[in-house]
Amino acid sequence: MINNCTDLLQYDQDHIWHPYTSMTKPLPSYMVESAQGVYLKLASGEKVIDGMSSWWSVVHGYNNPVLNDAIKQQVDTFSHVMFGGLTHEPAINLCKTLVELTPQGLEKVFLADSGSVAVEVAIKMALQYQHSKGKTDKNRLLTIKNGYHGDTFAAMSVCDPVNGMHQLFSGFMTENYFADAPQISFAEDFDESDLHSLKEQFSLHHQNIAALILEPIVQGAGGMRFYHQDYLKACRDLCDQYDVLLIADEIATGFGRTGKLFACEHASITPDILCVGKALTGGYMTLAATLCTTDVAETISKGEAGVFMHGPTFMGNPLACAAANASLKLLIDNDWHSQVATIEQQLTLELSSLKLNKNVQDVRVLGAIGVIEAKHSVNMALIQKMFVENGVWIRPFGKLIYIMPPFVISPEELSKLTSVLSEIVDCDEVFDKG
Ligand SMILES: *Cc1c(COP(=O)(O)O)cnc(C)c1O
Repeated sequence: MINNCTDLLQYDQDHIWHPYTSMTKPLPSYMVESAQGVYLKLASGEKVIDGMSSWWSVVHGYNNPVLNDAIKQQVDTFSHVMFGGLTHEPAINLCKTLVELTPQGLEKVFLADSGSVAVEVAIKMALQYQHSKGKTDKNRLLTIKNGYHGDTFAAMSVCDPVNGMHQLFSGFMTENYFADAPQISFAEDFDESDLHSLKEQFSLHHQNIAALILEPIVQGAGGMRFYHQDYLKACRDLCDQYDVLLIADEIATGFGRTGKLFACEHASITPDILCVGKALTGGYMTLAATLCTTDVAETISKGEAGVFMHGPTFMGNPLACAAANASLKLLIDNDWHSQVATIEQQLTLELSSLKLNKNVQDVRVLGAIGVIEAKHSVNMALIQKMFVENGVWIRPFGKLIYIMPPFVISPEELSKLTSVLSEIVDCDEVFDKG
C-alpha cells in the first residue's frame, strides 16, 4: 500500500483516468484529505471553499450530520437488495416525494444509477412509447445545440455535436436532429425569431422525431447559457402540435439551483419525461431518477414488449435512497428558496461589475449560479493552482469560469469566492491569448 502523498499522486498520474483527461499530458490533481461544510481540506495543507458543489451536487455541504446519520442508520438496516421482485421503504418514500415535488402530472418513477443512465432511460421510454403507438418511424431525437446530457452513447448523441466530438464516434452513434441554440437570454425580452430553427426542424422531421430533449432554461456543461422561459413554453406547444414527447433534463437544474425547485417551473410547463440526478442525494451517492406521465407509462406498458425494457443491478439502492430522502427533507427544512435567493442577490451584486473587465465577455447570474464568460480560454493548470493558493476550488472549462456554491454557504464565504474570482479574472497570464 502506498501511503505518502507524493507517491500516491504519482500513481494517480501514471494509472488513473480522471474526467476528460489525457494519460500522456495529465493535469495535476489535488488530494482531498477531508471535507467539512463548504470546505475541502487538501493533503497539501490548504483549506479551499468549494465553489462547484462538486459539480452541482453537494448542496448541503460536506460531512453533513443529518445526511451522515441517515446513511449510517440504513447501513445498519440493510445496504442493498435487488429491486427485481423486492422493494423497500427508502425507495417508496423517495418516489412518493419525487412525485409530490416535481411538476404536476409526473406520476411514475424509474430509479437510475447516474444522470447519464437516467437520460438513457428517458430516451428508451420515448422510443417504446412511439413504438407502442405504431409510430415506428419516430425513432430519432430532436435537441438544441450547446446541450449536455451525459457521456453514454444515447446521451452523447444529443450533446452538442462540436463539444461532443460527434465525428469521432460516427457510425456508432445515432444521428439526431439539432436546432440552433436559443440566443435570447433569460433576462431579455423574447422575440419569436429565436424559435425559427427549432420550428424548421419540427416541420421538416416531425415524422421521425420521438422526443425533444433539452435542459430547461440553463444549458450547463455545454456552455453555461441561460435562455428565455418563452422559448421553453414554445417547446411544450410544438411538442403537442407534432405529437412529440418533451424530455426535460433537470439533472443539473433540479432541486432549487435556478431559483425554482425545477427549472420547468419558470415556464409553468410539465414535460412528459423528467430526469433528475446530481443534487438528489445532496452529493453523497450516485443516484438519479426518470419520471414520466401516466399516459407515457401506460402506453409503454400496452406495447409489444409489455414492459419497460430496463433494470440495473443497483436499481433503487437503499443507501442512496436514504441519502436522497434526508437531502430532500433538508432542502425543505433549510428553506432552499431563501438560501438560493440570497445567493442570487449577492452574486448579482458582487459579480456584475466584472462586465467591464478587459478580459470578460459576459457575466450572468441565475439562482445560485454565477458565470463569467471570458474573452479567451483559460490555462487550466495555472488558473487551478492560483485558485487553490487563494483558498477556493473553482474549475473552469474553456472560456467559462463559473460557480454554483453549496446552498449553505455563508455571505462571507461567498464573498471570498467572488473576490478571488474578480482578482484572478483580472490577471492576463491565466488566459491563452495566442
Ligand atoms: C451531469 C449531467 C448529466 C450526466 O449525469 P452523470 O451523473 O454525470 O452521468 C446529464 N445531464 C445534465 C444536464 C447534466 O448536467
